[in-house]
Amino acid sequence: MPSKSAASSLPVVKISRRGAKRLQEGHVWVYRSDIVSATGVAPGTAVGVTDERGKFLGTALYSSASQIAIRMISSHAINDLPGLLRERIQAAISYRERVVGKDDTDAYRVIFSEADFLPGLIVDRYNDLLSLQILTQAMDAEPVREVVISELSQRLKPEAIAERVDPRIRELEQLPARPSGVVQSVGEDKKTATIFTMNGVRFHYEALEGQKTGSFLDQRENYAAAAGYAQGEALDVFCYQGGFALHLAKACSSVTGVDSSRPALEVADRNASLNNREIEWVEANAFDLLRDYADAGRRYDTIVLDPPAFAKSKANLETALRGYKELNLRALKMLRPGGILVSCCCSYHVSPAQYLEVVGSSARDVHRNLRVVENRGQAKDHPILLNVPETEYLKCVIAYVS
Ligand code: SAH
Repeated sequence: MPSKSAASSLPVVKISRRGAKRLQEGHVWVYRSDIVSATGVAPGTAVGVTDERGKFLGTALYSSASQIAIRMISSHAINDLPGLLRERIQAAISYRERVVGKDDTDAYRVIFSEADFLPGLIVDRYNDLLSLQILTQAMDAEPVREVVISELSQRLKPEAIAERVDPRIRELEQLPARPSGVVQSVGEDKKTATIFTMNGVRFHYEALEGQKTGSFLDQRENYAAAAGYAQGEALDVFCYQGGFALHLAKACSSVTGVDSSRPALEVADRNASLNNREIEWVEANAFDLLRDYADAGRRYDTIVLDPPAFAKSKANLETALRGYKELNLRALKMLRPGGILVSCCCSYHVSPAQYLEVVGSSARDVHRNLRVVENRGQAKDHPILLNVPETEYLKCVIAYVS
């Protein structure tokens, strides 16, 4: 470990008392409004951080554009950033070796940004392909990219590494536009498609298509848990490429998946064939479909709700909570006694307690009793770093209806 020293050769950013307090409380971000001075600091570089009196607080990655100006990477003075990045990548890989079951899964998040002490970097593994997302100026710097790509290649030996670019994030970070594409590849033909396995269920993966990094790895353990309680006739609402539906098919007599995206359902159907499953896919707006099905008197034994994040910011929290409530109400109306509700929420702005309240108040309104069988979160390869609340976002309530 490098020694703790104020004698860093790095440029210095001075932060306010409020910013310093935030770091003392264990957070790793300092907002732009708490920057006192950052003169001569180049965008996206490593900086030494001090309080107003000049006391050294650690090393951070600096962004000249984001509201999050400082992301701490160490409480020490770091003079060998490439060395530190390599160590952190190795540590992230070792952590996954301990928490991800190897027998039936070859897809998981390898690096989860702040939660792996690599702020601004997300890496997912899908069998022999890696998917890379760069979210900050510092991680976009050419020497940093080179270290990240070479370390990942050496350690995980993927066939290819594809970068998925979110143009909105590059704009926010004032980075030049850049297309998504393969950034490293073994052999001439840049491989972008593969088949990966989660809990023994197989999925098609196309590195440069689909949402997020292509699949919802954060639900992996929830898929398996849900399948453990599922039975009878099942409805997977907001099914995307069939993550829950395909897992439920092992245990249920029939499964219907609903999504508004046709391309997602086309992949879902290919996934069903890959696993020799018969699943009915319905392209519809989930709110309309749930209302129509409930009105038509349809009943189910298992219903999964896994909508997109309705609360993108604190400002629309109330509207979001109403949306979640409506979905839960409609699902509960259709569940037979003895049925299972799997109710998910991926909005960071809705706390686990708030979400339980939404599900509970829905049960009260339709005069049903709900017993929580499991109150779950994101899979362990998406670790929650305590003191950095933003790393915890997924809720998955599995409840028994009577
Ligand atoms: N359950 C999925 C992930 C769901 S992501 C899995 O485990 O992989 C959210 C999905 O909701 C996306 O596929 C998106 O196309 C779909 N969606 C968004 N709004 C919708 C709406 N109003 N009706 C139906 N589907 C919708």
